[in-house]
Amino acid sequence: MNRKFLSGTLVFILFLLAGCSFLSLNKNISNAPNNSISSKLANQISSIPDNQTELQNPEKPERLDGTICNSVIKGYNHADYERINIIFVGFNMPKEDLISFLSKYTDYDSAGLSIKIQEKHKITTEEGTELYTENITKIFYGLLGTEPFKSNKNKFNFWYVDQIQNMSESSPSKKTNKTNSNFCNSYCVSDIEGACGLKNIYPIYLCNASCRSYGSWATNKAYIHEVYSKGRKFNPYSIKTLIHELGHSFGGLRDEYTQINGTSAPGYPNCAPSLEKAQEWWGDLVGQGEAQLKVGYFKGCSYNNSNYRPTNSSIMRGSVVDLDYGPVNERRLSERLAEYSGNYSTNITEKDSLPQRNQRTKN
Ligand SMILES: [Zn+2]
Repeated sequence: MNRKFLSGTLVFILFLLAGCSFLSLNKNISNAPNNSISSKLANQISSIPDNQTELQNPEKPERLDGTICNSVIKGYNHADYERINIIFVGFNMPKEDLISFLSKYTDYDSAGLSIKIQEKHKITTEEGTELYTENITKIFYGLLGTEPFKSNKNKFNFWYVDQIQNMSESSPSKKTNKTNSNFCNSYCVSDIEGACGLKNIYPIYLCNASCRSYGSWATNKAYIHEVYSKGRKFNPYSIKTLIHELGHSFGGLRDEYTQINGTSAPGYPNCAPSLEKAQEWWGDLVGQGEAQLKVGYFKGCSYNNSNYRPTNSSIMRGSVVDLDYGPVNERRLSERLAEYSGNYSTNITEKDSLPQRNQRTKN
């Protein structure tokens, strides 16, 4: 008798082993600009170590002088280059954990974080219910492992605030989190990143709480929830959450998922209120991309079934391990990246001051 699957496959994922393959802190990259530092700001970067210094004192951070802001990757940042300043801020977590997690999020060598996981499948056939497990390796690519950021490594500086922040209120329980109203910006509140004295800052708040992750196009801030999976073990899915939230905070991208009783919020570039708008915004890209990321017109976007999204399933539809932004979102992010030269500048200006934002955002 032929087996016929009568119901969908339920997948449960367990973490077995975590093996990682990510950056080494003292590695140079081929496309990093040369070190022609001349401005006052650049001179403030202290203690860029030579190899000998680093061997003698591997734990010594590289600090922007007069601040509490350290480099995530030694020798990589140039404060006087026209770059996007990603600033990590940890809330409610040991500082050593924050520091150990940063390389996973930045993914400097684009190798991703390899995790061996066990998927448990439950299949209902005509003969009954069967359970089987499958061992697979998933790779979680971080910021510099994800296009279009991967091709623009010289457009970024990565910093972290060397001072863990407290939450303003106690964390909500996981149960109340499911009401969808406990956004992390209610719990992880700070403006400490301003102390770095940098322009073009995109803070990423690692919010150790059961709150709802959030990314704000208005404030440039991204809030990442549940950075731990169990105890003090790193939650690799928070890497994908970061990619999703940065889509909001840096790219102004819309959520591509729907929500029961959600309030429709379509907007440029990836969530069109009508088929006509969708054709106007991304008609030229239809057919590009592969599989889940092939561009077309799909019903359901920005919390409502009447809006259109450009791909069946991108990272803006859910923080799923295998998904990227897709061609439409990548084009928008590339436009934003193009606003930065990545080069030395005597006069670095804000690229996205708030009044300009509203003008740029099409509805
Ligand atoms: Zn979102």
